[in-house]
Amino acid sequence: MSVEVNKAKKEDNTLTATLNMIKQAIELSDLSNDVYEHLKTPMRFVEVAIPVEMDDGAIKVFTGYRSQHNNVFGPYKGGIRYHPAVTTDSIKALSMWMTLKCSLVGVPFGGAKGAIACDPLTMSMKEKEKMTRSYVRVLGSILGPETDIPAPDVATDAQVMAWIADEYSNIMRVPSFGVVTGKPLAVGGCVGRTEATGRGVFFITREAAQATGMPLDQARIAIQGFGNVGGNAALLFAESGSPVVAVSDVSGGIYNPKGLNIYDIVNHVEKTGFVKGFSGGEDITNDELLAIDCDVLIPAALENQIKSNNAGNVKAKIVIEGANGPTTPEADHILKDNDILVVPDILANSGGVTVSYFEWVQNNYGFRWDLATVNRRLEEKMTEAFKLVYSFYCEKCIGSDMRTGAYRYSIQRLAEAMQYRGWLRSSTKK
Ligand code: GLU
Repeated sequence: MSVEVNKAKKEDNTLTATLNMIKQAIELSDLSNDVYEHLKTPMRFVEVAIPVEMDDGAIKVFTGYRSQHNNVFGPYKGGIRYHPAVTTDSIKALSMWMTLKCSLVGVPFGGAKGAIACDPLTMSMKEKEKMTRSYVRVLGSILGPETDIPAPDVATDAQVMAWIADEYSNIMRVPSFGVVTGKPLAVGGCVGRTEATGRGVFFITREAAQATGMPLDQARIAIQGFGNVGGNAALLFAESGSPVVAVSDVSGGIYNPKGLNIYDIVNHVEKTGFVKGFSGGEDITNDELLAIDCDVLIPAALENQIKSNNAGNVKAKIVIEGANGPTTPEADHILKDNDILVVPDILANSGGVTVSYFEWVQNNYGFRWDLATVNRRLEEKMTEAFKLVYSFYCEKCIGSDMRTGAYRYSIQRLAEAMQYRGWLRSSTKK
């Protein structure tokens, strides 16, 4: 393997990067190394075989994972993704980010993440349903409304959550829909949950623009990823009058310096499945999108998109991480040197788990909140979290970046809870 390929692989290891960040945050906050001992590894990591009879009658055994990272604040919480390229390291890192995210935004959950290594684009609905139910039969004993609560993530949606709720309820012999969030409304879902991550991204962008003196209605926005997060955020920017100049998905992207018509793109995507081929702009690649002339760049696709080889091309003044882990540590340094504010994933995309929390509360109490209530509470939570983290970063993290500020803030809260629960003799260094 060439030196370049090795370097790129090393840069892509989200687990190493996360552990380094956690360690650094603990040292900078003068917290005890015992905090690191608790956070450096998931409390439970399970890898299982998921047998599925495919439509052609063949048996295929998929690999499934659940990483339960930390539950000092409450039940484990985090999505399940269906993707061919999942690795044990990436699932562990994703579960750590959930712990940090829940702590940061102040929802009473721990962090988890699950996955099945599969290519959902090549599978029928029936195959996906069987695979999902098989996952719940194999892992159901470690899930539960008070234990571990999955949610949607990459390539999983409300329908997948409904299958999980149904299979789990069958196993428990009692309707137990609070085992999972992000469900359809008909089976205990919460209004506004589907759009919540994108809406949270919008609120966080608004706060970041305000904090840095950028007029939001003139801010030119570029969004990588036109799925649940990027697509919904784009619609909100369009509604609020900010010009969205570029969007992309796996098929490539489109650019129009005067602003794209997002409603027409949504219609085009509904018809064709992809952004590509939309006539209202110039075709660009995903890499060109990251380097486009804009004010706010929102990576809302997958991990490791802004890296050492392209971070220097970013022209935006603010990067809002709609995706989990889109920026590598090497890229973080370059963006910082270029005075670009990066609002980290654990804050920027926490709108999803926040409304998951609202859904879980409603399931537990049999409440039904209306959309105005959900969106108002989400806005309150997002605004408060941004202000807390941003002021902590400005006051206590001079010379550092906002990700470090967010990690420090989040880990201090975790350490305090660990100490009260008796997991540590002292949360600070002696
Ligand atoms: N998958 C989402 C995330 O990464 C949502 C998790 C949840 O709602 O539990 O934050």
